[in-house]
Amino acid sequence: MLHSSILLSGDGQTILRDCGETFYPPDIGKVFDMLQDYFGREFRYLRLSVTDVCNFSCNYCLPEGYQGDSGRSGGGFLRLSEIRNIAAAFAQAGTRKIRITGGEPSVRSDLPDIIAAVKQTPGIEKVVITTNGYKLPQRIEHWVNAGLDGLNLSIDSLDPSVFQAITGHHRLQELLDGLDRAAELGMSAIKVNVVMMRGYNGQQIDQFLNWVKYKPLTLRFIELMQTGDNEDFYQRNHISGELIKERLLREGWEQALRSKDAGPAQEFYHADYQGRIGLIMPYSKDFCASCNRLRISATGKLHLCLFSDKGIELRHLLQRGDQKDELIAYLQAQLNDKKVSHYLRDGYTGGTRHLAMLGG
Ligand code: SAM
Ligand code: SF4
Repeated sequence: MLHSSILLSGDGQTILRDCGETFYPPDIGKVFDMLQDYFGREFRYLRLSVTDVCNFSCNYCLPEGYQGDSGRSGGGFLRLSEIRNIAAAFAQAGTRKIRITGGEPSVRSDLPDIIAAVKQTPGIEKVVITTNGYKLPQRIEHWVNAGLDGLNLSIDSLDPSVFQAITGHHRLQELLDGLDRAAELGMSAIKVNVVMMRGYNGQQIDQFLNWVKYKPLTLRFIELMQTGDNEDFYQRNHISGELIKERLLREGWEQALRSKDAGPAQEFYHADYQGRIGLIMPYSKDFCASCNRLRISATGKLHLCLFSDKGIELRHLLQRGDQKDELIAYLQAQLNDKKVSHYLRDGYTGGTRHLAMLGG
């Protein structure tokens, strides 16, 4: 078990050694309008997994395809009524945006109902999804009609054979058609996630950059993260995002100013390009200082970090709508245990075997 590197100075200030910043810790036990942790980080963003089942077999995530049965052994995946209760409690505690993720969220036939339930929750301003895009052209309209505000689509290569080598599926064209359909339907918040891997798409940065010249979307290069199951693959394929950042700056891209609520992505824009580039670099030094998100697994466990040791059971507080205040108090109490950062740089991946367990 690793310990966070917090120093308490003589006058009671907490000095955050890892990030070189000073925070003033909240009083433990005090009730806040906003969920916040010991380091003053506020949590307005929830990533909610609705299943850990996936129909793809991405080589960095589920190379053998979905093997688990956590839904069955853990009392089933979250029901719609439980999802409603989660959204209501988080909204009351200051959360404004909920991302629906998985596994692959679209394997749930009630996904449009889930989107609608979250969207109709007073206080929730944005409901967004991360998906592998399976059957996207047929499905996106139902999601938009249900209230979906934003789409993150994983497209790890624009070359059909490399896409197939990574995901196990020959479906690249379907994803591209789905993107066009989302744009036709008026969706403006579109992001494409690309996990960078030396042996697969590492030489395809030019292709991606050319693509966003005429595509008004945000393309996010994500550094491959080590998880419990992928250590060898990670060692062979990890590329530092710093190399991509250096290249962008050399080629005239400018780094956008970050708003106070910005998540961990660094964003870049260029006058000659309609699209933007985002860089997600979980191995960079200050990555966790801007953490603004909490996670709930598909079986109703709170995860304070993507790489925490284990989830905290919430299901007993999700059964009735009148447990909202109790749930909020419980969440706030758990947050006092949130660590200052993950320890990925030390190769410590907590209880996370792969990201399909939690939704990234
Ligand atoms: N199935 C959906 C998808 O792939 O978009 C949602 C779940 S997936 C776990 C969420 C995001 O995590 C995807 O963009 C995926 O590429 C990314 N991801 C999965 N494993 C990763 C890893 N080891 N390192 C970095 N990103 C990873
Ligand atoms: Fe499935 Fe997403 Fe993992 Fe790929 S990254 S195997 S699509 S959960």
